[in-house]
Amino acid sequence: MYVPELSSAAGYSDLPTEVLSAVGHTPAPVCAAEGCTSTENLRKCSGCHAVRYCSEACSRAHWRAHKAECRRLQAAAAAASSGSPES
Ligand SMILES: [Zn+2]
Ligand SMILES: [Zn+2]
Repeated sequence: MYVPELSSAAGYSDLPTEVLSAVGHTPAPVCAAEGCTSTENLRKCSGCHAVRYCSEACSRAHWRAHKAECRRLQAAAAAASSGSPES
C-alpha cells in the first residue's frame, strides 16, 4: 500500500506561509510543542508524521492539543492513498 510522505520537506513546505501558520505549521522544522522553539533533535509524530518534537516530553505535553489534529491528518493521508487510480 502506498502511503504519501507527509513528513518530507516537499509536503507542507510548498504551501503558502499563511496557510501553514493558519493550521499551526511553520515552514522551518521546529518543535511543535507549545512554548518550545527547539529546532534540534526533532522527531516526527509517530501518528501523523506531520509534526515534529524535540523530545518525548514535548510530544507528550502537546498530545492533548495535537490529538484531534493528528487523527485528522491521518484520515487525510488515508483518504489520499485510498483515492489512488489503482484501486
Ligand atoms: Zn520541544
Ligand atoms: Zn500526529
